[in-house]
Amino acid sequence: MKLNKIITFSGIGLHSGKKTFVSIIPKKNGSGISFIRNGIETSAIAKNVTNTHMATTIGSGKGSISTIEHFMAACSLCKITDIQVSVSSEEFPIMDGSAIEFVKMFLDNCDDEDEPTRPQLKLKLLKKVSIKTESSSISAIPSDKAIFITKNKVRYIGVVRSLVCLDTSQSLERILSSRTFGFFEDFEHLKSKGLAQGASLKNVLVLDGSGRLKNPFGYRNHEELANHKLLDMIGDFALLGFPRFEAAISSINGGHSLNNQLARKILSDKSNYQIINSNS
Ligand SMILES: [Zn+2]
Repeated sequence: MKLNKIITFSGIGLHSGKKTFVSIIPKKNGSGISFIRNGIETSAIAKNVTNTHMATTIGSGKGSISTIEHFMAACSLCKITDIQVSVSSEEFPIMDGSAIEFVKMFLDNCDDEDEPTRPQLKLKLLKKVSIKTESSSISAIPSDKAIFITKNKVRYIGVVRSLVCLDTSQSLERILSSRTFGFFEDFEHLKSKGLAQGASLKNVLVLDGSGRLKNPFGYRNHEELANHKLLDMIGDFALLGFPRFEAAISSINGGHSLNNQLARKILSDKSNYQIINSNS
């Protein structure tokens, strides 16, 4: 998709609670995605991630912007490649906790057809790259499709799992509409640390000490918790810098930190991958 005009919107940050104004400006082919705050521009690539605690933060100092992962997932799913995203505050708007509002904005403001001459660069993984810690692991293996698999142990719920192939469209809507989640018992503690200031039942799935959902309208889909973990993975791996890629990425008890470490590890060695033009 190619954005055909400037999009502006605003919303509150999940952790900061501050209202943030965003302008998305179309750029010429090959520009990539960048964020700009206080005049400091940061390319949306894995090495520019500066914090992965509770959210993915890009850029540093007065140019840093947190919680970009759901927006990046929307860019990836809509194959938006060349935009400058101007943000007024330190945190990207959380909207409803998923990526669906961003996707709707793109669909309303994009040309459907890609220009036939526009190169469609794709990162093709050539060998297995993985990271393991004591309690978690993530690995990427070569594949002819873009696949994400997640398995996470969630407090009070147990193991949740899901998978998605980005090349087939049928399951994408359940992924992009899946909301972030948290625990009611953590709320006061997070607030005392200056986090979750903008959190409410309108933008977070909140679980109680029995694993019951406090949100009045329930889940949007059967595996919303696992599907949100997939959404986070899609957003974090959009920071590979290519809208399309060929790899199967599988995570066990992972999160933003492990996602970012693996994306950096893939990009750190050119023998791990090949860039191909899928139009040619
Ligand atoms: Zn998330």
